[in-house]
Formats: sequence, C-alpha cells, structure tokens
Amino acid sequence: MTAMERIGFIGLGAMGRPMASNLVRKGFALTVFDVNPAPVQALVAAGAKAAKSVADVVEGADIVFTMLPDSPDVEAVALGEGGIAGAGRDGLLVVDMSTVDPATTDKVAAALGEKGVGFADAPVGRLVMHAERGESLFMVGASGNDFGRIRPLLEAMGTTIHHCGAPGTGIRTKLVNNYIAIAVCQIDAEAFALARAFGLDLATTLDVVNGTTATNGHLKTAWPNKVLVGDTAPGFKIALAHKDMSLGVEAARKAGVPVFAGAAIRECLGLAKGSGDFAGRDFSALLDHVCSLAGLSPPRLKESGPEKK
Ligand code: NAD
Repeated sequence: MTAMERIGFIGLGAMGRPMASNLVRKGFALTVFDVNPAPVQALVAAGAKAAKSVADVVEGADIVFTMLPDSPDVEAVALGEGGIAGAGRDGLLVVDMSTVDPATTDKVAAALGEKGVGFADAPVGRLVMHAERGESLFMVGASGNDFGRIRPLLEAMGTTIHHCGAPGTGIRTKLVNNYIAIAVCQIDAEAFALARAFGLDLATTLDVVNGTTATNGHLKTAWPNKVLVGDTAPGFKIALAHKDMSLGVEAARKAGVPVFAGAAIRECLGLAKGSGDFAGRDFSALLDHVCSLAGLSPPRLKESGPEKK
C-alpha cells in the first residue's frame, strides 16, 4: 500500500462496522457505504466520509473492502447493476472479507479481472468482540503484490494474518476452519448433555477434557507427528476408538440423550474398522480412510507445505 491510497468499505454490520472503525481510528482515509444509514452515520461521526452508492465508494477509493452477509450480496455489489465492476478501473483492488461460496469468489475474481480490477479474499476468523478490539484473524487469498498492498490495512484491523495462497484460497481455508469449529460445537453439546445425564460435576469434567485431545488438540499434537507425516502405526487403534464411541453412544441412548453426530461418527469408525487393515491403524488414520472413500491421495506435510510465494 502506498501512503496515499484511499480506502472504501461496503457493509457496516456486526463485523464491518468495528473493522471500519479501526481503520478510521488508525488514520486511514475511509469512504463507507451501507444500505442501512445508521452505521454510516456512526462511521462519519468517527471521521469517515459517507458515499451515496457502491459506485460512489469505488470512485473515491483505490482499495475497496466488502463485508456483506452472503454470496448473492457479494455478487450483487461486485457485479450487479451499479456495482463495483461497472465503476471499476485499472489498479483498483477489491478485498472481499465476507464468508461466501468459493464459486462466488472465483466468479467475482474472474469478472473483476476482465475489467482490470484486482481481487483478494480475506475472510475473517474470530468474533465481533475481537473485531472491536482490532484483534481479528484474516485468511488471505491474494497475489504477493496485492497481499503486500493490503497487509497494513489488515494489521490495523487484526493481529493474525495468514497468506493462504492465490485468490480463492482464503475463503476455502475459512470453510475448512468453520467446518471444524462448528462441528465440534455439536459434539461438545452432545458430550456435555451426556455429562449432565450422568450427573457429573461440570467444572471437573471441563478440566478433564481441557487436559486431553478432546480439545481437538489432535491437530496440534498427534496429527502433525502421525498421519500427516505418514505414520499410522498405533497409538490408539481405530478398533478401540470404535469401541469407545460405541460405549459412549450406547450410554447416551440409555440415558435418553440424543447423540446425532456421535452416532454418525460411530458408524464411520465401524466402516473404517471393517476396511482393509484400518482396524489396527492409529485413529488419526481416519483421515486416510475418508480420503480413500473420496478417491483422494492422503495429504502429507512433507509434500504439501504452504504455497511458495
Ligand atoms: P451483518 O448482517 O451484521 O452485516 C452485513 C451488512 O451488510 C449490513 O449492515 C447490511 O446492511 C449490509 N449490506 C447488505 N447488503 C448490502 C448492499 N447491497 N450494499 C451495502 N451494504 C449491504 O453481518 P456480519 O455479522 O457483519 O457478517 C458479515 C460477513 O462476515 C458474513 O459473511 C459472516 O458470515 C462473516 N463473519 C461474521 C462473523 C460474526 O461473528 N458476526 C465472524 C466472522 C465472519
């Protein structure tokens, strides 16, 4: 980013408003737009300039951020009537931070590219409270040049910035992240309902599970040393994991606790246990089992390091 670049921000909702506020607070020249006038007024009071339309933002900015609810909103703002593409010009860079369908990201990136407009995707991790404190996490899909251009802006809004690769890799990383973050929430809900049915002490149960790989510490501890480097020797065998999940699911059934995800996972373990030699392999080899079902070669860290820039 050159010192004089002007910034546009479209979409000032729960996340966009505090993120844009951080840009203004840290001295960036900001033009904002939202179909809802209330947050626009709040940003103007903080020092931003109000735009009358999307095209008006584009006219007054060199880099335009979008933080909109869903794929159709991003497509409409980027490519629709009166949208960014119509007003776009060479050198303009659009950075979409919304969580959307990757197909939309690819379509918007390609269509803007035809107009000479650059595109990066930088979806956001963490919550509104982090956005307010300027402590967001960004997963960025951008060319090396564009990443360098937007980095100071992301640093004004967040504390952790990952360059995932080319445009489109940020949003795909976000979907992988949220798949885990949301799925474990359902598992946590089922497990703690079971703990409730068992009459267990909540604080003690929390202490126990926070001290084991029940925190999904697999990804920090076991996986990088086991399946992700091709070591699937047990460890903890898939056959035993199937037995333990069966015990848990059966206990939950007896306690009258519905365990939707747990039951499905027990069946996945059962399938793996009956396939080839998986029964005796480490339970991290579930990854290899899912990959074999999908016709994929299993990912290994030594082969698939971060994309070189
Ligand atoms: P939100 O609904 O609070 O805000 C969206 C804003 O976009 C609203 O102010 C709305 O008026 C505005 N808008 C909609 N259409 C518009 C248009 N055509 N032109 C201009 N403005 C328009 O949503 P949010 O919680 O801020 O989330 C935004 C995105 O970030 C979503 O994709 C969401 O999934 C993602 N996200 C949210 C959180 C969170 O904790 N809320 C965290 C990370 C990522």
